Amino acid sequence: MLSDGLGRTIEYLRLSVTDRCNLRCVYCLPEVAPRFSPGADLLSDDEIVELVSAFARMGVSKIRLTGGEPLVRPGLPGLVRRLSRIAGVNDLSLSTNGVLLGGFAHELKAAGLSRVNISLDTLDPARFAKIARFGALNDVLSGIEAALDARLAPVKLNVVVAKGMNDDEIGAFAALTDKKPLHVRFIELMPMGETGFFSAERRVPLGDMLSQAAPLAPASPEERPLGHGPARYYRRPGASGTIGFISALSCGFCDACNRVRLSASGTLIPCLDGEEGVDLRTPLRASAGVNTLMALIREAIRNKPGSHDMVARLAAPDASPRFMCSIGG
Ligand code: SAM
Repeated sequence: MLSDGLGRTIEYLRLSVTDRCNLRCVYCLPEVAPRFSPGADLLSDDEIVELVSAFARMGVSKIRLTGGEPLVRPGLPGLVRRLSRIAGVNDLSLSTNGVLLGGFAHELKAAGLSRVNISLDTLDPARFAKIARFGALNDVLSGIEAALDARLAPVKLNVVVAKGMNDDEIGAFAALTDKKPLHVRFIELMPMGETGFFSAERRVPLGDMLSQAAPLAPASPEERPLGHGPARYYRRPGASGTIGFISALSCGFCDACNRVRLSASGTLIPCLDGEEGVDLRTPLRASAGVNTLMALIREAIRNKPGSHDMVARLAAPDASPRFMCSIGG
């Protein structure tokens, strides 16, 4: 078992398989010339398998593939197949923008993927073009249907909410859960990235979201979808799916944090925010051996910060050194 210096058990690894993305969401990536890593910096499939095997030997059992957009990494189903066979990995999931999911959902399921989270911020095609700047809403909707059809369940939809961007669509997203087993989670915009989009005024109070998504009752523990995250879950009367709220800034959930992140270029990042990171790629490429890698991982996790300091940085949001695509959200 892996524990950090504060006694939190770490059992969940978010693994960025590429920092490249086929979208340029306004709050995440600049439209022109995002600073993607050179291809040679990215971990190969063999390197990812070696690192995940080391994490699994230390008790990490839940792996989420993220990015960038993981489905733009060539050969992702083959990597999924290899990761799903690692002893100790018992929950392998994927975060995707859904644009390419229609063509991959069944193949990924057959390769051993358990479930997907699909990011989608609007149900309006013209607005999609403004927010995501590339891609097409219809492809994402097909991706959602394909995920349901392939039983990549629970299928969660992640909606980043921002005032003036999509805060009038909370009711429409909530209504999606009425007929289909979709689990819609509204996510607070965070002061990350270099797009200059974030501002404190963009934040939508939880109370406003709750009233737009109404009628809601708290979901019982049995009704909540499988997952390891910090959402608070509700259900509309008679609905097939659930509605969750994830407020990284307003309701600190760092005390229960169970996760670390591995960037596409092999840096172990103990906290979503902050500057700490431990390079695992260099020792890996120097054939340092599994014991050295495990010692580095243990040491990085021991030093995991107690909490992020995003609230303190609200006044200077662009001061964040991180951008979501390199660390995988
Ligand atoms: N491409 C995949 C996807 O779309 O899910 C995985 C990577 S994406 C960076 C992961 C998540 O981070 C997405 O749901 C995205 O909306 C979210 N995200 C990016 N920037 C954010 C920000 N500043 N605040 C809150 N969420 C953000």
